[in-house]
Amino acid sequence: MNLKAALQNPIFMTIADAAQELGVDCYVIGGFVRDYLLNRGTPEDIDIVAVGSGIDLAEKVASKLQKKPQVSVFKNFGTAMIKYGNIELEFVGARKESYHRNSRKPVVENGTLEDDQKRRDFTINALALSLNQEDYGNLLDPFNGVHDLEKKMIRTPLEPDITYSDDPLRMMRAIRFATQLNFEIELKSLQAITANKDRIKIISKERIVDELHKILASPKPSKGFTLLHKTELLPYILPELIALQGIEEIEGQRHKDNFWHTLEVVDNIAETTDNLWLLWAALLHDIGKAPTKKFHKKIGWTFHGHEFVGSKMVYKLFKRLRMPLNDKMKYVQKMVLMSSRPQILSEDFVTDSAVRRLVFDAGEYVDDLMTLCEADITTKNPKKQKKYKNNFKLVRQKIIEVEERDHIRNFQPPISGEEIMETFGLKPSKEIGIIKDAIKEAILEGEIPNEYDAAKEYMLKKGEELGL
Ligand code: ATP
Repeated sequence: MNLKAALQNPIFMTIADAAQELGVDCYVIGGFVRDYLLNRGTPEDIDIVAVGSGIDLAEKVASKLQKKPQVSVFKNFGTAMIKYGNIELEFVGARKESYHRNSRKPVVENGTLEDDQKRRDFTINALALSLNQEDYGNLLDPFNGVHDLEKKMIRTPLEPDITYSDDPLRMMRAIRFATQLNFEIELKSLQAITANKDRIKIISKERIVDELHKILASPKPSKGFTLLHKTELLPYILPELIALQGIEEIEGQRHKDNFWHTLEVVDNIAETTDNLWLLWAALLHDIGKAPTKKFHKKIGWTFHGHEFVGSKMVYKLFKRLRMPLNDKMKYVQKMVLMSSRPQILSEDFVTDSAVRRLVFDAGEYVDDLMTLCEADITTKNPKKQKKYKNNFKLVRQKIIEVEERDHIRNFQPPISGEEIMETFGLKPSKEIGIIKDAIKEAILEGEIPNEYDAAKEYMLKKGEELGL
């Protein structure tokens, strides 16, 4: 097969000329070829393999480009990178790899193109396009990667047991690609992943989390989590989710399986958002349910305080996975903590003051919170489904109305502590807090509008009550 059409960008000709001058063969390999054949557009990361020095080729290419871009050389890896507009060109010399048991860092020696294709993780990632004069654009596919693309199949070029054991990150990559592309993993591969699951321990948390991010950003993330579950990798990565699995029944009362429910919620939210942290919030919104689960003879199953317990668990989980302990984590915690609020509110008559409190507590994230709660509707009963959706519509409408009137979202107290001190001739004292709080409460309850004059009048009244 000739795929010259994939090589329209003039950069490929420049690379081909540079390689010819150096007298080395070179090829485009990996994701670029795969994504071109899948009609996923042409990626901005392009991998070039040279049968010779990748670093020398990169330097030659850079010298031929008008803007003389900088070449970043990674000597330890034998690779070099050039940024060319939006494109990142990664150059590597063709290599043969062998592995030691305790590391995913291979021993590397120079090799042929085929050696290099063999060290690739999947047949669909081992496709190479020639940039050589005699067969420019020819596809080199020794492991039937094109066939696997057609069959939508993830398969390894070598024995899967060796591939996954050599570099266990590939287990995560297999599951990630299956999720992103909606492919199946070949049975032999699935079995090899399960057999090698324990080796995931040698992979850094950062690399695992990178793959989780990509799974979450896929159209149907549940596919990835189901595969992580099936291959028994999930307990190593997110035991909090596994703890949600199962349905218990006591005296004829059952609760739902919160693991599968969670996956449905994540799929739902993936349809409406690409906010990675909101996707994480959906994944973790029920993790507090495992440690808080109780059975009461009269009321059945309860999960009291699961939102609070869950939000505390978010911190531990982020820390364990070396995820950022910054405002992103706080956002996820807040979403988990508040995840039942709109639902509780919508079950009742939706009052303005309840909506004001919701907006006050959620602040700028109130819309995200509503998106999470709508995704949380997984009932299969169409009547209930419709009812819950309508209730949330009403809540959303009320949020807009209340916001137009009262501007609660980024609430700033209309009267400052200083003004309270000046008015009553007070030094810093607890009375100031009491008055400030009373004003805020009066606004949230709708007793007074969120305006300066009304708040001032209220402050004076409150001061009188306190004998100031
Ligand atoms: P994406 O950009 O979506 O992650 P990609 O295939 O370009 O897809 P990269 O991680 O950039 O992924 O890797 C580039 C190529 O390097 C892959 O296509 C594959 O051939 C090879 N590769 C990457 N990681 C591994 C690995 N752990 N084991 C073997 N080959 C790998």
